[in-house]
Amino acid sequence: MRTGEGKTFLSSLSWRLVTISAVTILAVGSFFVLSEYWDFLEESHRLRQSYVAEQKAGVRDAVTQAVASVQYEHSLADARLREGIRSQVDNAHALATNIYDKNHGKIPDEVIAETIREALRPLRFNNGRGYFFITRLDGVEILFADRPELEGHNLLNMVSQDGKPVIQDMIALTRQAGGGFYEYQWTKPGATGTGHRKIAYLRHFEPFNWFIGTGEYLEDVERDIQGEVLERLARLRFGKEGYLFGSTLAGDPLFTNGEVTRGGPSVWNLTDPHGVKVIQEQSRVARETQGGFMEYSWVKLKGNEPSPKIAFVKSIPEWGWQIGSGFYVDDIESEIATRAATLRKDIAQSTYRLAGLLLALLGLSLLIARSLSRRIESHLLAFRTGHNKDSGTGRVDISCLEWREFLDLAQATNHQTELREAAEAKVRERTDELDRYFTLSMDLLSITDLDGRFQRLNPVWENFLGYPLEKLIGELSLDFVHPEDVQATIDAFDRISQGHEALGFANRFRCADGNYRWLEWRGRPSGGMIYAVARDITERKEAEEALKKSRDELEERVAERTRELTEANARLTELDNLKSAFLNTVSHDLRTPLTSILGFSKIIQRDFTRRFLPLTEGDTALRDKASKILDNLGVIVSEGERLTRLVTDFLDLSRIEEGRYTWKEKTTDMGVLIRDTVSSLKGALLEKHGVQIRLDMSPNLPELSVDPDRIAQVLTNLLSNAIKFTSEGTVTLTAMASTESIRISVADTGMGIPPEELPMIFDKFYQVADDTLVAEKGTGLGLAICKQIVEHYNGAFWAESTLGVGSVFSFELPLKNR
Ligand code: ADP
Repeated sequence: MRTGEGKTFLSSLSWRLVTISAVTILAVGSFFVLSEYWDFLEESHRLRQSYVAEQKAGVRDAVTQAVASVQYEHSLADARLREGIRSQVDNAHALATNIYDKNHGKIPDEVIAETIREALRPLRFNNGRGYFFITRLDGVEILFADRPELEGHNLLNMVSQDGKPVIQDMIALTRQAGGGFYEYQWTKPGATGTGHRKIAYLRHFEPFNWFIGTGEYLEDVERDIQGEVLERLARLRFGKEGYLFGSTLAGDPLFTNGEVTRGGPSVWNLTDPHGVKVIQEQSRVARETQGGFMEYSWVKLKGNEPSPKIAFVKSIPEWGWQIGSGFYVDDIESEIATRAATLRKDIAQSTYRLAGLLLALLGLSLLIARSLSRRIESHLLAFRTGHNKDSGTGRVDISCLEWREFLDLAQATNHQTELREAAEAKVRERTDELDRYFTLSMDLLSITDLDGRFQRLNPVWENFLGYPLEKLIGELSLDFVHPEDVQATIDAFDRISQGHEALGFANRFRCADGNYRWLEWRGRPSGGMIYAVARDITERKEAEEALKKSRDELEERVAERTRELTEANARLTELDNLKSAFLNTVSHDLRTPLTSILGFSKIIQRDFTRRFLPLTEGDTALRDKASKILDNLGVIVSEGERLTRLVTDFLDLSRIEEGRYTWKEKTTDMGVLIRDTVSSLKGALLEKHGVQIRLDMSPNLPELSVDPDRIAQVLTNLLSNAIKFTSEGTVTLTAMASTESIRISVADTGMGIPPEELPMIFDKFYQVADDTLVAEKGTGLGLAICKQIVEHYNGAFWAESTLGVGSVFSFELPLKNR
C-alpha cells in the first residue's frame, strides 16, 4: 500500500467538495447578477419608451387643456364686457337715483342734477379706462367725463365710424326700452386704425329725462383677459417641471416658464444648435387643426448643453397665438442612472452575501470532508490490518465496519481471498499432477529456452539418448541433431520463436552409442520457453522407407505396363480404323456389283420362267433340272437382298456412329406415327405368320420433335423382330406418356432370348446362336441401329426376355430432347 506519497482519496474528496460548493455558488451568483442586469437593460429600454409616450401624452394634454381654457375665456369676453358695463351703469343709476330721492323737493333740481353729474364724473373703472357719460334725451351732453369740453353741446348729429347716428340711436333705444346695450365702431385713443368695436350700456334716468351710460372697447377687455390668461399660463405647472410657453403665430413672445414676455423683441428667428427655426417650426406645426409634435434641441433651465426636446404646440386662431409645452428626451436618463446605481448597490450587497455564503459553505465542506475522512480512515484500517503481509489473516474484519459500501467491499474482498486461496490450492494440485505426468510420460518432454538449451527434460530422455539427465540440462539441443537436419531444425525453431506452433516436424538425434534415432516433434512457445513433446519414430521411419522403396518399384512396373498397353491400344485403334475404312469401302464397292447381281438374277429368273420353263413340258428330267435352277436363282436373289440390307444397315450405322447422319427433324404426332407404322406392317407380315398384332396406346400421345422416318425404323425393326421370332400368339405394342417422356414397348410371345445372350443382342452383328428356327436371316445390325437412334434423342433402350415365353423390347424418349 502506498502511504504518505501522492494525493489521497480524502484530500481529493475535500477539495472536490470545496470546489463544487464554490463553483455552484459562483454559478448561481453570476446567474443572479446577470439576470438582474438583463432585467435592468430591458427595464431601461421599456422605461425610455414609456417615458416618451407618457411625456408626449402629458404635454399634449396640458397644451390641449390650456388652449381649451383660453378659448373658453375668449368666448366669455363679450359677456364679461356686457356684464361689467351694465353693473357699472346700474351702480351709477342707483347712485343718481339715491341722490335725487334724498334731495328732491329739498333743493332745486338743477342743484340735484349738478350733484349727480359731479358725483359720477370722477368715477373710473376697467383699469381706469371706464367712465360715465350722461346725455339728455334732446341730445345735449350733460356729462362726458373723458371729454368735458363737449358738455353742454348738443351732440345729436354725432356719427360713429361705421356711419351710425350714435346719439340719436341711443336716445331712440332709451325711449323705446328704457336703455340697453348698443354696439358701434369707434375710434380708439392711442390706437391706430378705425373700427374698434365698442359696446355701450345706457339706462334711462327718468327724473331728468337723461340716459346714463358707459362704453367699453372689446379689444380692451380681451387684452385684460389675455393678460390674466398669460399670467395664469405662465404660472401653470404640471408633471415634473412641466411648463407652457407661447408666442404669437407671427413670432412675438408671449410667455415662457413662469414669465410673461409679451412686448419683448420678436423671437421669429430663434434657431436651435442644429439649425431648426424653432418658432417658425412651432408656428407651422401649431396651425394644424389638432396641433402637433415637433423635435428640436434646447438648453435646459438648469443646464448649459442643448438637449433633445420634443414639444407639442397648438394654435389659438382667435388671438393668433400658439402655445406649447415640451420635455427633454434625456430626462429619463438620470432616472435610469438612478436605477442603475440602485441596481449596482443591490448587486454589490448580493455579492457580499454570496461571498459570505461561499465561505460558510466552504467551511462546512471542509468540516464534512474531515469528519468523513476520519471515519473512512478507520474503515480503511480494517482493510490494511486484514491484508498486512506479516500479521494479516487475508480477511477483513467486518464487525468493525458500519457503512454498507465498505461492508460490501470487505465481503467482496474476503470472497476474492477465498477464491484465490482455492485457486492456489488447485494450481498446486495441478502442478503436482503435471509433474507426475511429466515423470511418467513415455513421450520425450522438454523445455528449452529460445536459444535451444535444455532447461528441463523428463526421465525418458535418459533412456533415449543414453546420457544422464544432469549432463543434458544446459546443453544445446542442436548439438545432438544430425548434420543433415540442422538447417531444418533451426528453421523450425525460428517458426516456434515467432509464436507459431510446430507440428509433425521430425529430425534425427545422436545417441550415446553413436546411432541416430528419429524424433517427431510438437512444440509451442510460452513465456520465453519452448515446450515440446517428441516421439521416437525411428521404426515408423524405417517402415516408411521400406514401403516407399516397394512402392517406387511398383510404380515403375505399372508405368512400364501402361506404356505397353498404350502402344497396344494405339495399334488396335489403328487396326479398328483400318477395319472401318475397309468395311466402308467394301460396303460401298459391294453395292454396285450387288445391284447388278440382283438385277440380272431377277431378269434371268423372269426370263427363265417365262421362256424356258414351258419348254420342259413333258420332259420330267429336264423339268426337275429347271426347277433346281429356279431354286438356286431364288437363293441368289434372297441372299443378294440380304446382302443389300446388310450393306445398307452397315452404312447407316457407321454414319450414325461417326455423326455423319443427316437427321430430318420435325414435330411428329407419335400416335399417328405408331398407327401408320403398324398398319404398313400388318398386311405384309401378319398374313405370312398368322400372329396377332395388338395395339395398346393411351390417347393423346404428345408430339415430339424427331426424325419420323428414324423412329418408324425403330418401330418397324422391333415389330419385325417380334413377328419374326414368334411362331404363334400375339405381338403387343404399348405406348404411354408421362409428363416427361413417352415409353413404347413391343412384347411378343415368341421364343425368347437366353439370359446369357441378352446383354449382347445390341452389339453389332450379334445374333442369338440358336435361331435356326427362323426362316428369314437377319443382319444382326437392326437393334444396334435402333439403340443408336434412341440414344441420339437422349432416350433409353432395353430388353427383357424369358426363354420360351417371350421378349419385351422397350425404349423411352424424353419429351424435351436436347
Ligand atoms: P437381326 O437382323 O438378326 O434380327 P437384330 O439386331 O435385329 O438382328 O437382332 C439381333 C438378334 O436378337 C436376333 O438375331 C435375335 O437372335 C435376337 N432377337 C431380336 N429380337 C428378338 C425377339 N423378339 N425374340 C427373340 N430373339 C430376338
